[in-house]
Formats: sequence, structure tokens, C-alpha cells
Amino acid sequence: MVSQTAQKTQTHPSPKTVKVMRSYQLPLKCADQFQREEINYRIRSLEERQDTLLTPGVVKTAVKLCRSNTKERFFTRKLCKEVGESPNIAESAYHWLHIAAKGKIDKEQKVKGMINFLVKNPQQQVEWIVFGRSPYTENSLGKYWGKKRRYIINLLSNSRQQLDSYSKKKRRNYYFSNNLVFNGVLPIYSQQDIVQGIDDALDYQTNTFSQLATLTKNQQAFLNKLKLLKQEQHVVVPFLTSWINSYHSSRWKSLKKLAKELAEIIGKPTRKLFSALRQIIVFTLFDHYMQSVPQLLKGLNLENLVPLPFKRKKKGKLPVKLLMKKDYVITREGNSKELTNKVKKQGTTILGFPQKGKKKLTAEVLFSPKVLQYLDNGAEIKVFQVSSGGAPGFKPRVDVVLEGAHDCFHSSNLLKSYLLKIPKGKQSILGLDVNRLGKYMVVFNTPVSLPKDLMLLAKRYLKLTDKVLEELNRGFLNKRKVYDVKGSCKLKGELNRVYQRRSRLLREITSLLPHFLAAVMVKKKCETLKIENLSADPTGTKGALAKAIYNMPDSLYIYKKAVWLASLELGYDVKLQVVDPYYTSSRHYGCGGTISRRKGQHDFAPCSKCGQKVNTHSNAALNIASLSGTFLPHDLFPSSHV
Ligand SMILES: [Zn+2]
Repeated sequence: MVSQTAQKTQTHPSPKTVKVMRSYQLPLKCADQFQREEINYRIRSLEERQDTLLTPGVVKTAVKLCRSNTKERFFTRKLCKEVGESPNIAESAYHWLHIAAKGKIDKEQKVKGMINFLVKNPQQQVEWIVFGRSPYTENSLGKYWGKKRRYIINLLSNSRQQLDSYSKKKRRNYYFSNNLVFNGVLPIYSQQDIVQGIDDALDYQTNTFSQLATLTKNQQAFLNKLKLLKQEQHVVVPFLTSWINSYHSSRWKSLKKLAKELAEIIGKPTRKLFSALRQIIVFTLFDHYMQSVPQLLKGLNLENLVPLPFKRKKKGKLPVKLLMKKDYVITREGNSKELTNKVKKQGTTILGFPQKGKKKLTAEVLFSPKVLQYLDNGAEIKVFQVSSGGAPGFKPRVDVVLEGAHDCFHSSNLLKSYLLKIPKGKQSILGLDVNRLGKYMVVFNTPVSLPKDLMLLAKRYLKLTDKVLEELNRGFLNKRKVYDVKGSCKLKGELNRVYQRRSRLLREITSLLPHFLAAVMVKKKCETLKIENLSADPTGTKGALAKAIYNMPDSLYIYKKAVWLASLELGYDVKLQVVDPYYTSSRHYGCGGTISRRKGQHDFAPCSKCGQKVNTHSNAALNIASLSGTFLPHDLFPSSHV
């Protein structure tokens, strides 16, 4: 047992040594509204000065500097020297510039990877040239880099757009072609060419698929679509010819629209023909683009495919960063350590806003109990970030950035308050079933009732859903029916606000949940927490909570955090295991009979074998606890904001 733990610390750095940064918004207490507005005004002018420092020349120099050395201190010193500026405010401006320059360099690496991928995949290359998109590329690179699809889509379309301005500059080069202009004009093609394109696409696909032993459902469907388009080519070809030969502001959108129209015209309105049509376009244009594009890509200067930072910045939008150990444009009480100690004692600190020829104004930053606890846990104040607010409040905003080990950032208060309400007991394996919001939203394989605050939030959520939103929606439809523009606009606004309020409630629930789950694990001396694999329930029949959890950037985040919190409290690593959700809700635990839920029978349903009325949720939790699943590797607790 001992040697095992030792091994673990070797392969994974202990969470205690890894430092993370978190930022929290804090209220700023000004003497009165007049002073608040004056302070806000002073911050605003600092933001604008910061802005004027970031000229295109400085940005260019910054990126160059960053390429040679990415350390921030080196960067700022060097940049101040080269630019010949060193007012305090430059420190803040150059801090943002440093982040942006690093971002550009990182993006260049990604574009390089993308271009390499496209060079190896000619069909995707043509697709990217024509559409600025390529779903296959998006999937492959997204998986490879572990990035969200949205990120890759932006990467593809931004670099495609950037390629245009780049090749415009190289107009004199032999490979420049008018037809490379994104979304504009494609080479002129005849109907005969399109027919050839259809045949080529179909041949190619039939050939490729014939080498596979079996086709997946998707592959078979794709082939059928191509065959359908071939069969209906007397309709398809004229439309595609006109699509190629006319101007479009977005090739992607217009072909998508055409795909829908074609499906309707050929009498199969439900068929999704977009991917097959794209394939035909790629095969039609293939020879043309393969003559010039590969050379173009090989000769590209990647730096030009990612624009310099702050090209389209908004004036005065960067907050003023108050770095520590500096005599600054906004004054603070001491450096990072001194300040941390002071705040720990007093719970507040003073920021000063001097201005030449005017009285220095001060305001108090109030620390919330939560942030104070993080400081007590060992986190340190790293930096303040101050930004001005707009009309009508003109309220300045202050964020504090803390740095510390992972375990600084948890407030055990919440967990402790939950502990009081949970009955003691030993349950080394806990199974957890997640359901609709309400009394049964989280159910264990042992009876535990939900805490009051979670219940209250769920009740408010349900009230908004069942009553408020329904009424508003009905009202909105009525207003629309009678063409009451003003009335329907007003209701639409109200609807949006209620939706927002509702999603805030859900967010609050999901942020409290790990603490409650951890409290249960602590009280039951749990060793393994078993949960259902939610991604296998894409229909989302389990309601808002399960959906919210599944839609988080890391769908296991809540459980990982809960297990982590419990482990801190228990002093040993609680394990997390994922179980496949088959039959967990339909098989009667211990009896083997089938529970047949009829409409409306969410919580209780009869067993077909023994006739007992079963609580479907605790039954599911019992099943989950009894199944064997996959252990998740004990990784560092993932932080959602660093
Ligand atoms: Zn039964």
C-alpha cells in the first residue's frame, strides 16, 4: 500500500505542489457616488493610455521578442527598452501584449499542424479552399489536439480568410489565381463537368468502400446519397452548375441551403444531402485546385496566416493590471506578501487613485468570506485587475487574482454544513443516479435526503420552467398572432431575462452539488463512487441537471471535484468509476424482474415479477453500485478557470 502511494506521487505531481491562479470579483466601496464616478473616470483614462501604447509597431516588436524568449519579465524589460517607454502603465499594457503575443505564436503552431494535415489529405484541402470548412479535418484535429470543435472551425475559416489577403499581396506570383478568392468566384464549369464530378465521386467512394469488410451505417447512408444524386442528376446538375458559376457570399451556407432545396425537389425532403453534394463539388474542382494549391501551401509563410494581436481591438477595453512590487498608477498597500497578510487580518485593503494636480482618491476593496478562506488556506494575492464601468452606474470593477495550490481553493464551510444533515454509516461503494431537478435529482444507493438549499434552488428552477416561462411563451405567441410588434418585443426581452435567471439557478446548483456529494462520501466513509456514463444517454431523457452536467466542458467535472473534495477531507483517495447505463433503470435490483414505467411514472413503478412498487431512482443507484465499470485514472483535479 505504501509503495503504491509512493509510485503515484512519482508519476503525477502532487496537487499540493502545482500552483493555479483563480480570479474573483470584489466590491469596491467608495465614499460616495461622486467619488465613485471620479475614480471610474481615472481608471478609464488609464485604460485609454494603455491603449495608445499598443501601436502596430510595438505589437510587431513584441511578437518578435516573444519568439526569442517567452518569459514575461524578460519580455517587458526588453520591450520597454526597445520602445523607449517605461511609464508604470506600460507594465500593465505589456502584460496583456505578452499574453496576446504568446497566443499568436501558439496559434501559428496550430495552423502549421492544420496545413500539414491538409497537404496530406487533398480532398480536405479542396474542401477547405472552397468552403473554409472541412468537417473531417475538424473532427480529426479536434480529437488530436483535444480541442473543442468550435476552436478548430475558427482556425480553419480564419486562416482561409487570411490566405486571401496573403495571396493578394503576392499577386505577381505565378500561382495566384482569381479563383482562390474565398467565397467569391469559382472557375467556370459546364453541366458536363458536373456530371463527370458526380461519376468521379461515386466511383471513388464505391471503390474505397469496396475495400472494407463491412460498412458502417453512416458509410452506407453516404453511398446511398451519392447514388440518389446520380439517379436524379437531370435535376441536380443544372442547380450545381449555376451554384458553381454564380457569386456567393458564403459557399458553405449557400450549398447547405441548396442541399435542402434539392431534397425537396426530388421528393425526399428529409434526406440530408449536404455532405454528398460537397463531395461532388470537391471532385468537380479537384484537378483545377490541385494544380496550384499544394505549391501555394508549401510556400506559405505561416506567420502571415495568423494576424497580429490587437488588430481589431476596442478602445480602452483592457483592464488595468496592478502588478505587485511596483509604485503604480493605482496605489496599493505593499507587495504581494504584505498585502496578503494585511487582508487576512483586516478583510479589506485600500486602493489609491492619484491624479496630477488633483486630490488622491481612495476606495476600499472588500474581500468576501469565501476569498478570505482561500487566503487562510494558503493562497496568495497575486495581482489586482481594475476596469472602468459604463453608464448608467459608472461602477469600477475590481478582480483579485489569487495563486495557490489546488487545495487552497475550496471552502470546507459548505461541505461541513452539509455533513451535519447526513446520517452516519459505512458504505464503501456508493452508487449515484442523477435525475430531473427536484426531490430525486441525486439519489444514492443508501437513503440520504437533499439539503435545503439545493431543494430551494430546484424549486425555483421548476417554478420558472412550469409557470413563468409557460405563461410568457403563451403571451408572446398571442402578441405575435395579432402582430403586436411592440408587445412581442417586450415579452421577448422578458423571456430572455427569465431564461438567463433560470440558467443561473442551474449553474448555482451544479456548483453546490460537488460539496454535497463529497459530504455524503465523507459521512459514509466511501472508497469508490460509481456513476453512470452520461455520454451514453444522448437523448437527455434525464432532464436539465443531467444535461447541464453532460454539457460542461469536462462532463465528469462535478464528480471529479466531489471525489477530490471528499479525498481531502478523508485523507485517502476516493476512486471514481464509470458504469455503462444499460438496464440500470429497468431491472429490479435483487429480484431481476423488469420495471415497466408508464407515462407519468417517473419516481415509482411496479415490478413485473414481484409486483412491488419500486422507487426507480434508488433502484437505479443500487444497480449502478453493483455493476463493475471502468476506473478513471487518478488525475490532478481539473480546474475550469486558470
Ligand atoms: Zn421485483
